[in-house]
Amino acid sequence: MIKDGAQHLRSLDDGRSILINGRRETAPAEHPAFRNVTRTAAALYDFQAAPENRDLMTFEVPGKGGLRVNRAWQLPRSYAELVERRKALTAWAEVHCGYLGRSPDHVASCLSAMAMGADLFETHGEGRGAALKAYYDHARDNDLYLAYVIIDPQADRSKATGEQKDEYLTASICDEDSGGITIRGAKMLGTSAIMANDILIASLRPVREGDAKYAFTASIPIGPKGLKLLSRRSYEQSATSRFDYPISSIWDENDAIVYFDDVKIPWDRVFVHRNPKMSLAQFHDTPAHSYQNYQSMIRLAVKLRYLVGIAHRITETIGTTDFPQVKETLGELASDAGMIDAYVHAMEAKGYQYGPYYLPDKATLYSAQVKAQKLYPKVIETIRELAGGGMIMLPSCEADFANPEARAIIEKTMLSASGDPAARVKLFKLAWDSIGSEFASRHAQYEIFYSGARHFVTSHAYRTYDWASAKGLVDRVLGGYELPAALKGAAE
Ligand SMILES: Cc1cc2nc3c(=O)[nH]c(=O)nc-3n(C[C@H](O)[C@H](O)[C@H](O)COP(=O)(O)OP(=O)(O)OC[C@H]3O[C@@H](n4cnc5c(N)ncnc54)[C@H](O)[C@@H]3O)c2cc1C
Repeated sequence: MIKDGAQHLRSLDDGRSILINGRRETAPAEHPAFRNVTRTAAALYDFQAAPENRDLMTFEVPGKGGLRVNRAWQLPRSYAELVERRKALTAWAEVHCGYLGRSPDHVASCLSAMAMGADLFETHGEGRGAALKAYYDHARDNDLYLAYVIIDPQADRSKATGEQKDEYLTASICDEDSGGITIRGAKMLGTSAIMANDILIASLRPVREGDAKYAFTASIPIGPKGLKLLSRRSYEQSATSRFDYPISSIWDENDAIVYFDDVKIPWDRVFVHRNPKMSLAQFHDTPAHSYQNYQSMIRLAVKLRYLVGIAHRITETIGTTDFPQVKETLGELASDAGMIDAYVHAMEAKGYQYGPYYLPDKATLYSAQVKAQKLYPKVIETIRELAGGGMIMLPSCEADFANPEARAIIEKTMLSASGDPAARVKLFKLAWDSIGSEFASRHAQYEIFYSGARHFVTSHAYRTYDWASAKGLVDRVLGGYELPAALKGAAE
């Protein structure tokens, strides 16, 4: 049986603790702040379970009696398998037009790539690699939805983790015994954690040797006592209707501070233990960091395709498509969306062999990320320019259609080059929710920061680029001429 939506919704009934609006909530599938997006997550599993999507979305786990799970868990051994997997990830992203940044395939990609490098975990700590591999098998076989927190709370960035005012600001090991470790403190930001099954906790940033208690990696279900999710404001809950907020009402994946109030984690879920070197190496000496962000680029390619579609529909509605300058702007947008799509194909084509696995090229991935960080705000600004005041010149909410006085004005003023007044209102409300609403603004923040601040992302491009080849070209040119012999003495 392939995991479906009902199964996922049932799995969230685990007594989890979500702090929002001054209360402690336990049932995201029922709560007005989360219930629609939780159903969107369920819809992803229904999509993979639909008989017509079975082969596209799932693969058979070898040796498991025909068990099929999402292709996100597949460890590709060839270019063809990598592409097959990408097609599944693309189809899933199309369900939410790329608006779920932490859809289940994101952290599944991270964990799968860590599992490819399980030997490294073992080298750094006896039993840790075996625990990681067993956890990967468990998460894959149960097709778990994982979220992760890998960044320390922002606090004072001029200080190292261990120098903050409260030594337990950042989640760290506060105790351990033969049963496992106990974690106290916080991590930012558990996107999608409210509707995930498990949370992976790690440190993406370097941890100082003296701060080893912060250098751990572990995983735990969201439900246990002591694990608390402090949610930001819900855009879903403040959406007045689906018509007025078509996507924030259903795709607000949530972000939450994850607080560990002395949470015990058993040893078989601890993959890095008090080890600053491995804490860093797990992301960069295995394919984990690049593979999770490769998933992000597949998702972004879908989101940009959607946004470019919004741009074109706006110009059709206001009758500007054929203005030469507007065509030029649409052409630029098309090339922006095409560039990210091309990057995805390029990183696959330039892929490399990691043991038996075939993976996307890291330098191409990081090049794409650096470009994408600046590209997203630029695309949003360009669509705002194309839209003019159309996204603002709108009735307050769908109820205005029921008021004869308001409706008469809507029908007179909401004219467009294509479609009736209701269609115009519908499109512009969708456009606003996609690029201008509070939900859309959070998305701009997400696309700029989800993989780290700019200096962090550019450092990966710097680290992985083939400088030897670039400098080799320069050296070849330099080697082709000399200061004329007659002048050499003068120069010395
Ligand atoms: C919407 C959203 C969702 C997220 N979801 C997740 C998630 O699911 N899991 C997770 O683990 N994390 C998540 N994050 C956290 C994300 O990884 C961080 O925002 C990101 O790593 C940047 O860290 P920061 O926000 O603390 O910014 P900071 O590191 O504080 O940087 C903020 C700014 O300060 C300046 N700055 C800071 N340090 C330096 C420096 N050393 N040199 C120069 N300039 C500097 C730069 O201008 C930088 O842009 C999410 C973030 C957002 C916004």
